[in-house]
Amino acid sequence: MRRTPLITACFALAMLALGACRSFNSDRRIDLRPGAGQKDAAAYLAHPVTVGQLVFHADFILPSENRLIDELVAERQLISDRLRIATSDRQIHVHLFADEADFKRHVSRRFPGFPERRAIFVETDRELAVYASWGEAIADDLRHEVAHGYLHASVPNLPLWLDEGLAEYFEVGRGLDGVNRMHLDYLRGQLAVGGWRPNLPRLEQLTDAGALTQLDYAESWLWVHFLLHSEAGRETLLTGYLASLQPGVPAGSLGDWVKASVKDPHEAVIAHLRSLSK
Ligand SMILES: [Zn+2]
Repeated sequence: MRRTPLITACFALAMLALGACRSFNSDRRIDLRPGAGQKDAAAYLAHPVTVGQLVFHADFILPSENRLIDELVAERQLISDRLRIATSDRQIHVHLFADEADFKRHVSRRFPGFPERRAIFVETDRELAVYASWGEAIADDLRHEVAHGYLHASVPNLPLWLDEGLAEYFEVGRGLDGVNRMHLDYLRGQLAVGGWRPNLPRLEQLTDAGALTQLDYAESWLWVHFLLHSEAGRETLLTGYLASLQPGVPAGSLGDWVKASVKDPHEAVIAHLRSLSK
């Protein structure tokens, strides 16, 4: 039904990670063992490291203990609990490159013609896989891409906009209640200058991952945050919708569910945005 191979492009928004990666750099200094982080291309294929559902293939020496890796492993249960979806044991392969140039070379060879991105998630008939280079934004990038992996392992037929909205929600670090500050500020600014009004039916029509704009990512995140945090009980619209998705059956419209339950949803989502800005 969707892109084949199913490739979710993860937007290289340069500002995306500045806040989180700063704290992550601190984690790395604490957790890295001597020698960790050094390139070790020979180990790339020879020594995958399996942690929970994740299988890491790195061309450098991964630290044996690392808070980001712990967080990625814990994200599985977080997603399952928050969205009330069953966990899966389907492995997610995480390919990590020390150098951005090596990452780009590898991705362009494996997926020729695919637009250049900072990190990607790929689902094929054979596997779920993430590719990323170990740069400044690695924490946000991996939380985002691995979220796609966990979602695709458990939820069939996830609409593109919702797939991205959920990944944007889960990419922010723990303790932030899914508030993606960059999207929040961007939407506030666009609303103020008349550059944007929410339009869920428009998002639901999107099918080309490579054509998503910053606004598409931001609004998708906002709808997810609205459903999960605006009012007690409203999260059941999202969790019920996810539970309704079936393989091989076209996904219905979450917008229809929202419309049936929320009075004037577009005004309600703007009110939620304003409440987050306080
Ligand atoms: Zn994505």
